[in-house]
Amino acid sequence: MTVEEQSRPSMRTGAIVKSQFDIAADLVGLEPYMRRLLRSPFRSVAVEVPVRMDDGRIEVYRGYRIQHNGARGPCKGGIRFHAEADEDEVLGLATTMTWKTALVDIPFGGAKGGVQVDPRQLSKRELEAVTRTFTNRIAIVLGPYRDIPAPDMGTDQQVMAWLLDEYSKRSGYSPAVVTGKPISLGGSLGREEATGQGLRYCMEAYARDFDLPIEDSRVVIQGFGNVGAHLARLLHDAGARVVAVSDIDGGLHNDGGLDVPRLFEHAYAQRKPVPEFPGGDRITNDEIWRVACDWLIPAALGGVINEDGNAKALDCKVIVEAANSPTTPIADKILTERNITVLPDFLMNSGGVIVSYFEWVQNLQQQPWSLDKVNEELHRKITAAYRMVRDLVNKEHVTWRTAAYAIALTRVAEAEQLRGH
Ligand code: GLU
Repeated sequence: MTVEEQSRPSMRTGAIVKSQFDIAADLVGLEPYMRRLLRSPFRSVAVEVPVRMDDGRIEVYRGYRIQHNGARGPCKGGIRFHAEADEDEVLGLATTMTWKTALVDIPFGGAKGGVQVDPRQLSKRELEAVTRTFTNRIAIVLGPYRDIPAPDMGTDQQVMAWLLDEYSKRSGYSPAVVTGKPISLGGSLGREEATGQGLRYCMEAYARDFDLPIEDSRVVIQGFGNVGAHLARLLHDAGARVVAVSDIDGGLHNDGGLDVPRLFEHAYAQRKPVPEFPGGDRITNDEIWRVACDWLIPAALGGVINEDGNAKALDCKVIVEAANSPTTPIADKILTERNITVLPDFLMNSGGVIVSYFEWVQNLQQQPWSLDKVNEELHRKITAAYRMVRDLVNKEHVTWRTAAYAIALTRVAEAEQLRGH
């Protein structure tokens, strides 16, 4: 098996989410009709996105906006621009958003959007054209009280600004239709780093409860996009030793700890490849899984920790799922047997959507919050969810994922039932 084959996911996000749902539905004894409802989306929109490229050609991309469930509030979730963002993947991610918003108890349902395109291959003008055409074609199902997009992999504040502009052309000034906007267009302070900040708060709570202090602990982060880069910076500030990180081009290892502030500037701010940073030894995207650490943090694509490649070889105490669905169900079992705790994605990476909720509230009230208030409220919300999951883990002796699912599923099923059919 080549290195590339070893790190290739054996199972994709959609299948992972379905399999986890079945396990959790059995556990909480979900009625058959409710299972049927929650396995499939409330509404799924597929569109063609034709775009005139800089060379004059017209390229046609495929796009989706899938609303999985809206029983607890307007549908909420990011838009991903990625070559693998097909219908199955987007549905899996939309489903995870339903559990995420329920678990952290914010008044939203779950949705996700995706365009099957590699944004790195597009010029800025082409990216804007993809965003505007896609927005136009899904606008009919969006709205501040209907469905509210946000950034995800391959999209950022600028993409959200174009989305807002395009939507507002039809419906008038509507800042609450999208979150993760630039501050000058009604975005929230603290939103850009919110996912990393939420992960850090949960890790600090776990560190206190399970006697694994962040200070001087060893951290490995796979993925150096918005989530991985901000989290690396925050953990470094908290005294952790970030010993290895990677991005799509490869990894970097330094046993004494990488110079994170300079690496952040190089790889995140200037968007240069991680392995080109001079402060460490280059490693492959396969080797990063074998670096010994306390906290192993997958912060990129789904399915990367799997039974075919690395689950038996990981050398860590805790896996912090910063990415969505990084662990396959069989790998999950292997890790439980190996006594490695897996802190699940829809708890750990919920900081982004929590601050999106604060942004939506600020937009509706036309009243901006201070950064301190955003971070205090984020801390309160995410640690409350963390404690609820932890208490259930201790009481029922189940995994963190199972406990988190039990809480989220029960809340969504109750809302769905109360609304009636
Ligand atoms: N894309 C992020 C997520 O997967 C944020 C979603 C949002 O803020 O609505 O949680």
